[in-house]
Amino acid sequence: MVDSYRHKGMRRKLAESIRGKGIKDERVLGAIEKIPRHFFLDTTFTEIAYQDKPFPIGLGQTISQPYTVAFQTELLEVKKDEKVLEIGTGSGYQACVLVEMGAKVFSVERHRPLFQKAKFLLEKMGYFPKLFYGDGYKGLPSFAPFDKILVTAGAPEIPEALLQQLKEGGFLVIPVGAGANQVMLRVKKTAEGVFEKEEFGQFRFVPLIGKKA
Ligand code: SAH
Repeated sequence: MVDSYRHKGMRRKLAESIRGKGIKDERVLGAIEKIPRHFFLDTTFTEIAYQDKPFPIGLGQTISQPYTVAFQTELLEVKKDEKVLEIGTGSGYQACVLVEMGAKVFSVERHRPLFQKAKFLLEKMGYFPKLFYGDGYKGLPSFAPFDKILVTAGAPEIPEALLQQLKEGGFLVIPVGAGANQVMLRVKKTAEGVFEKEEFGQFRFVPLIGKKA
């Protein structure tokens, strides 16, 4: 795993292009600039790693577009030492961004080979979020409640379990929609059983796979 000046230069440009697309949180941009995204792709794709594009990571899944990662992370407004649950570990890249934000990160993945690959890679890179193999629809009840929850796959509806596992004052960022496109939602738990929803435009994610799939 080599991280050269050339890679660093490409990352700086990537962070600048994401800034140009409207991301303002310097900590998010700093994380994009710091984390070697090419480690998450096969070596043949080093150039592509620093384009602002999603990319296949196997099993029909993708590493999200860097802009989307930045957008979702900015919406989460992560503060240091907050407990953050991510649903859909995938490559593990987003989990590393959350670690860089100072969060205590828990991440769930339902494809075992992706879970194993991410665990191996992140340990090698020196990132230690708590990774779990399981169904993110159910959240992670034994570690709840969470300050923030982030879903990185398109959900047909908001999973009830995730709302339950939020702290009061916490929020869930989730792309919701039954078709190919989803609306990015931020759902704040203002009091027990009381939620406020905000919408943030259209995105396209791989689907969150439900219990029956
Ligand atoms: N955050 C990832 C991108 C993930 S793509 C990254 O940074 O690379 C969405 C991921 O969600 C895929 O890996 C997919 O396998 C996973 N996924 C889909 N349904 C899930 C479920 N019910 N529980 C947990 N993970 C799920």
